[in-house]
Amino acid sequence: MADKSKIEWLKGPGGELGASWNPIVAYRGRRRGWFCIHASPGCMRCYAEAMNSWRGNELPYRVTSQNKLRIELDEKVLMQPLHWKQSRKIFPCSMTDHLGSWVEDQWIYRMLAIAALTPQHDYLFLTKREKRLAPLFLNMNLRLRVAWEVREFLLGSHVTIQALNRLRNEWPLKNVWLGVSVEDQERADRRREQLELVAKLGWLTWVSYEPALETVDWVGWNFLKWFVWGGESGPRARPFEVGWGWRALDWCRLAGVPCFVKQMGRNVRVSMVTFQRRFGGVMSFNRFDQKAGEFIIKLKNRKGGDPSEWPEGLRVREFPKVQ
Ligand code: SF4
Repeated sequence: MADKSKIEWLKGPGGELGASWNPIVAYRGRRRGWFCIHASPGCMRCYAEAMNSWRGNELPYRVTSQNKLRIELDEKVLMQPLHWKQSRKIFPCSMTDHLGSWVEDQWIYRMLAIAALTPQHDYLFLTKREKRLAPLFLNMNLRLRVAWEVREFLLGSHVTIQALNRLRNEWPLKNVWLGVSVEDQERADRRREQLELVAKLGWLTWVSYEPALETVDWVGWNFLKWFVWGGESGPRARPFEVGWGWRALDWCRLAGVPCFVKQMGRNVRVSMVTFQRRFGGVMSFNRFDQKAGEFIIKLKNRKGGDPSEWPEGLRVREFPKVQ
């Protein structure tokens, strides 16, 4: 689990694959896997948890699992980006939440030290635990702690000195992106405040509105440098109303934030309002849900991830201008 991820938003502009990077691992006896705890409604169909159940330690992502596990930072996995010479986008801790209470501060410093040592890569961190963002990333000693960890790697003096110089001249690191995952209005309000605090200090920030579970008012998010959205995928995916994404795209246009439309998801709906305003009355649908007042759309791509099946106005896959 590392090199070459198929996640769409990790791809480079030329379609080059990005990578997920999971140095935080969880052992149950000799069975190695990952660990996390559900944090909000967006976690209900957690992909990482499903993967852990068949390729990992098999324990669900619940509080009760934690005392059956030994959670550690795998130094070998931690070093992987140092060996990836070609620049790529990296999703750190895709199998957990890097701000979970089981993650030690020092592990985060070490991951940031790796980012300082590899300016050729972009690190796209994503969390649902916004409360730990500001205390960690606004801490005046963070740069010093990261510099200390850079030295601890005991790499060649040339590499170390370059990274230390970078930390001296470039803070916050320009290849580290701090993001929050947002699924509904309640989570949006809660996570925006904390993310804005770190953005004010110069950290590059982004949002992943996936799985989108209801429409969200994005007023006040203008500090963002990137916006990604998508409906839920998987067999029991919850409904995604296309108008929610369309409104998010409208907001991105007004705010000048690059927008990346990832997927429509597996349970795609179109409300009467969206139908009249956006589709101009032309649309093929499978069924009309009388009770919800929505059209149900079946797309051939199981994740609704093929842009050729979307309305033309939604075929938007922009990347941030600051790289
Ligand atoms: S925070 Fe992420 S990894 Fe953890 S349970 Fe939720 S969706 Fe899964």
